[in-house]
Amino acid sequence: MEKQIPLSVPNLDIEIVDNLRECIETGWVSTGGRFIAEFEQKVAKYVGIDDAVSAQSGTAGLHVALRILGVKSGDEVIVPALTFIAAVNPVKYLGAEPVFMDCDDSLCMDADKLERFCQEECSFDGTKLINKKTGRAVKAVVVVHIFGNLANMEKIMDVAHQFGLKVLEDATEALGSYFKEGRYKGKFSGTIADMGVYSFNANKIITTGGGGMIVSQNQQYLDQARYLTITAKGTSPEEALFFIHGEVGYNYRMLNLQAALGVSQMDKLEQFIETKVMNHNKYKEELKNAEGIQLLPFKQDIRSNHWFYSLYIDNERFGEGRDELMYRLLENGIQCRPVWKLICTLDPYIGSQSYEIEKAVDYADHILNVPCSTSLSVEDVKYVCDRIKNR
Ligand SMILES: *Cc1c(COP(=O)(O)O)cnc(C)c1O
Repeated sequence: MEKQIPLSVPNLDIEIVDNLRECIETGWVSTGGRFIAEFEQKVAKYVGIDDAVSAQSGTAGLHVALRILGVKSGDEVIVPALTFIAAVNPVKYLGAEPVFMDCDDSLCMDADKLERFCQEECSFDGTKLINKKTGRAVKAVVVVHIFGNLANMEKIMDVAHQFGLKVLEDATEALGSYFKEGRYKGKFSGTIADMGVYSFNANKIITTGGGGMIVSQNQQYLDQARYLTITAKGTSPEEALFFIHGEVGYNYRMLNLQAALGVSQMDKLEQFIETKVMNHNKYKEELKNAEGIQLLPFKQDIRSNHWFYSLYIDNERFGEGRDELMYRLLENGIQCRPVWKLICTLDPYIGSQSYEIEKAVDYADHILNVPCSTSLSVEDVKYVCDRIKNR
C-alpha cells in the first residue's frame, strides 16, 4: 500500500484521555461541568478579551451571533460567494436573504466592492441601508477570514460604520491569526467586529471533535449568547428550578466532553501554528520553480495561523488542469480538494442576488488545497511536491 497523506486531520494527545476520564467518572458529560468554563476562559484570554461563549459548532455560534446582531426575517446580509456554506446558511435560518460579494486576492471579501455596493446599489437615509433592487433592509455583513488569512478589516469596519451595518467575523478558520500592523495591531481575528466565531471541527487548527466559540468585546452580546445557547432559561435559582424560559432559545451549548478536548488542544495551538508556518515555507521552497503553480501567500502585515494551503493552478502553463492534478494526486494516496463551489451557484442560493462576482469565479476554478495537517513532516511535504511536479 502506498503512503497515504490526509488533507487535514486532528492532532490529539493521548493525555486528553485523562480529561475525558474525569468527565466520565464524575458524570459531567453534558452541557455542565468545569471544562466548559475553563475552555471559554482559555480562548478568551488567548485572543485578549474578557469572556467567550461556547457552542456545539461554529455554525451554531454563527446562527446565534447573527440573531443577536438583530438580523430578522426579511432582512438582507452581505456574505462572501467563495466560502464554506456554513457561513451563509445561518442567514437563511433566520429567514433573511444573502447578497453575495466577491473576494480579493486574499480570498477574503473585497472591501472596495462592498463599499461600492452600499454606495451605488443601496440608498441610505442615515439609519437604514435599503437595497434598491429588492427594497429590503441590509443589516449586516458576514466576513470570513479564509484559510487563516485576514480580511481587510479597516476598510470593512469603515464601510460598516458609514452605512450602519453590523459585522460578524466568521473566524472559524483563523483562530490565532492577528494583525501585526495598522489600526488593529495586536488584535486577533474575531475580536475586531461586533461579534466573532471560532470552530473546533475536526479539520480546524485545534479540535474538540465538533464545537464553536462566540467572542465579542461587547459583554451584553455575550450574555445574550450564553442565554440563547441554553434554551434561554433564566439563571436565577428560581427561574432555573421552575423552567422559566424568556425566549425561543437553542440547545447549542458545548458539551463538557468537547471542552475537555479543547482545554488540552489550546495548549498546543501556538506549536501547531509554528508547524503550519514551517510546512507552508517548505511547500513554497519545493514549488518555487514549478511552472504554472503558485502557492497562495498569506498577508505580510498579519501573523496568520497558516491553517490551509492553497495552490493556484494555471492549467495551461502547468500543462495539467486543476481537476486532473487532483485526481492524479488522489490516486497516489495524497488527499487534496478543490476550493468550494461558489455558494451563489448552489441550488439553495441560485435565486439570490450576487454583486459583480469575478475573482471568486477564477479562484473557484483554479485552487487546489493540499495536505496541511500539523502531523505532516517536511519530508511529507517534499513527497507531496515531488508527486505534484513529476507527472
Ligand atoms: C468550518 C467552518 C464553519 C463551520 O464550523 P462548524 O464548526 O463545522 O459548524 C463556518 N464557516 C467556515 C468558513 C468554516 O470553514
